[in-house]
Amino acid sequence: MDISVGEGTASGTAARAARVRPRLAAWWEANARDLPWRFGRTTPWGVLVSEVMSQQTQMSRVVPYWTAWMERWPDAAALADAPKSDVITMWGRLGYPRRALRLQECARVVAAECGDGLPHGYDALTALPGVGDYTASAVMSFAYGERIAVIDTNIRRVLSRVFAGEESRGGAASPAERALAAGVLPRDAARSVTWNQSVMELGALVCTAKSPLCDHCPVRDDCAFLAAGRPGLGQRRTRPRQRFQGTDRQVRGIVLDALRRLPEGENALERATIETLWKDHAQLDRCVAGLDEDGLIEMLPGGSVRLPLD
Ligand code: SF4
Repeated sequence: MDISVGEGTASGTAARAARVRPRLAAWWEANARDLPWRFGRTTPWGVLVSEVMSQQTQMSRVVPYWTAWMERWPDAAALADAPKSDVITMWGRLGYPRRALRLQECARVVAAECGDGLPHGYDALTALPGVGDYTASAVMSFAYGERIAVIDTNIRRVLSRVFAGEESRGGAASPAERALAAGVLPRDAARSVTWNQSVMELGALVCTAKSPLCDHCPVRDDCAFLAAGRPGLGQRRTRPRQRFQGTDRQVRGIVLDALRRLPEGENALERATIETLWKDHAQLDRCVAGLDEDGLIEMLPGGSVRLPLD
């Protein structure tokens, strides 16, 4: 990332940020999606659940799952006590179901060691199972209103385009990207929260990876990427996404889905039924073994499987 050219000096970046902030804040005011975990309508725990569910899943898809989940388990203590089979079933088709078990591990620690309240501090949050830099920063900003730079894929893409005039690179955020995110964060805590949310929302709705809607973008007059002719737009700078069809992920999802759909009163899939789920039995066996290793299913004598009970 090179922000040393043209207006990309420290003072140029600051001037650009000063122009971008009010435009983005006004755009946020008019366009923010009314998601149920926004605008102070849920607890810090509810914000954390929304962030865990939104990793690798679009926020709009998360809404019905989050709503049902929070109705059933409104706090960490409730989730901590839930049977694993219910947790995996409620995760539904959100994908990457290990996240559900990690969230329950987190709930158990919060319930047992934190008096059922989510800790208020970055270090305490990242010490929880499954809570990394992004989730801790998002909770600190969105739930607690603290001034902290939140760095996810959308924010990296938007900041890199607007201020550096280039696509962000894949992999972990670079020191330059972190410095940029910290440098353009408003000093005022309340404004920093709006900034984080609005940059992230712009990346989700307007400044998308492949087809940014520059004609409708509130910061187009100050976007270095647009001014430079959108160099390398659509080029994959991140790791190419693995196709889904035929992958172990698909097979694992099919097995879990069959378990979730078992009729009332039945809790196991017989071996003969499992074999009807996927033609390639070597791949199927590998996936069943992997699900068992991850604690998402239990293998029973005779080759049948069930969702874990405790
Ligand atoms: S002008 Fe285009 S590239 Fe620049 S921030 Fe807006 S949508 Fe993204």
